[in-house]
Amino acid sequence: MEFVQDPATLRQKLHEIRRQGKSIGFVPTMGFLHEGHLSLIRAARAQNDFVVISIFVNPLQFGEGEDYEDYPRDLESDSRLAAAAGCDLIFSPAVRDFYPPGYATFVEVQGSITEGLCGTARPGHFRGVTTVLVKLFNLVAPEHTYFGQKDAQQCLVVKKMLEDLDYNLQFHIMPTVREADGLAMSSRNKYLTPRQRAAAPVLFQSLQQAESLIRGGERDVASLKDAMRNLIASVPETEIDYIEIVDTNELKPVEQVRGSCLIALAVRIGSTRLIDNIILEV
Ligand code: AMP
Repeated sequence: MEFVQDPATLRQKLHEIRRQGKSIGFVPTMGFLHEGHLSLIRAARAQNDFVVISIFVNPLQFGEGEDYEDYPRDLESDSRLAAAAGCDLIFSPAVRDFYPPGYATFVEVQGSITEGLCGTARPGHFRGVTTVLVKLFNLVAPEHTYFGQKDAQQCLVVKKMLEDLDYNLQFHIMPTVREADGLAMSSRNKYLTPRQRAAAPVLFQSLQQAESLIRGGERDVASLKDAMRNLIASVPETEIDYIEIVDTNELKPVEQVRGSCLIALAVRIGSTRLIDNIILEV
């Protein structure tokens, strides 16, 4: 497996790969890899001749006072894990090479899909995400790219951007990988104290509770959100950022559950903000 930091070197190496007629699968990440990331790398390995992942903690997608500085980083462990999962090349640029002084171009998806849910709590976040991804997609020029449903809103935003900008790129959404107790894997789980870690499965439990209420016939979103709120509030150190039930196309809140809906939430446990979601067909 190769490790490349310089964008020009990456271009050159991938030009050669394409010249050999090989297909490229790409998994963008911020590193501190866990089984969630590895599931995407394995999916890329299964469908492509050459697998590239990026490891880049993108300053543009962090707001002021967020955890950019503290975000966990461990390139050595990442390299080992990525290689074992079938990665051929890690691209991990320095911030000053990726956004050199004078950098001035940004890509933004507008409308309800970036305004609600995490877009409300984290203004500018998705603009940072789409900007870094356009640059990465241009550099890597993959045939296939792989994202996790854990970041369901991000998936929709990126899919919209790819459609709007006429990308010829197959976009794959892979299921959320969870710990045995249901907690969605996340690099940020590392921040949790043992007590907070014990509290964290309540995010998924509240989603499961909503699902079972819906399966039992409940359709009223206000009641479902109340039930979720009560369950989460019963666990110490939790503070709800949002609980939303939205349609899966435009991410607009619905009052009654019907068709395909996304139940998504963000909860702070101590100072760590965790997200999770499920998609239901009713
Ligand atoms: P990140 O490094 O957090 O930016 O995530 C990189 C990619 O891995 C994104 O497409 C995420 O949605 C995906 N990912 C993160 N956690 C999980 C998980 N628990 N299950 C599946 N995919 C995940």
